Amino acid sequence: METSGYIDELRIVGGDVALDFVNTQDGDPPVECLRAYGDLVAWSVRVGLLAAADEGRLVGEAKARPEEAEAAYRDALGLRETLYSVFRAVAEGRDAAELDLEVLRRYEREALSRGKLAQHKGGFDWEWTDEWDLSRPLWPVAHAATALLTSEDLDRLKLCAGCYWLFLDASKNRSRRWCTMEVCGTHEKMRRYVEKRAARRDSQRD
Ligand SMILES: [Zn+2]
Repeated sequence: METSGYIDELRIVGGDVALDFVNTQDGDPPVECLRAYGDLVAWSVRVGLLAAADEGRLVGEAKARPEEAEAAYRDALGLRETLYSVFRAVAEGRDAAELDLEVLRRYEREALSRGKLAQHKGGFDWEWTDEWDLSRPLWPVAHAATALLTSEDLDRLKLCAGCYWLFLDASKNRSRRWCTMEVCGTHEKMRRYVEKRAARRDSQRD
């Protein structure tokens, strides 16, 4: 199964897997990092939602059922758009649209009905390890999104001041403004520096 290679390069900086999923569209103009179902699988492995050992099996299923893989891929893009609009609304202090919440509720119900509450040494987790439905990559994402929406971490949700990615601000004084300092922070500082210099030049001319 083809993957675009964008997934390897993608910055994972959201602080929550649901936000990392939303951030699979990169930059302005947007670069699509999920270009096919294979990218969705590769991303799931990269962020730890799918065991590397299960990757081959899921990719094999997708090859055998290309139409279902395409439908699951389209659903993933739709879910991502829904999550972006919900989380962006929260980050901007607005109410999320009821229509978006209904979509998320539907995914969460589906996720829980297909998942298994499993016990580990340190606690409990929802797992989807026995499922080979091609929608499987969407369930842990939908579940992570509702978990985040109902958690206390939600008040740390922010929108990057440079690129509109979403992230959880884990800094003590909640002062983080950028998805990544090296990318958006530096761009912004450079932009301000250029502006300031231009303004100084203008005022010297007057
Ligand atoms: Zn950014």
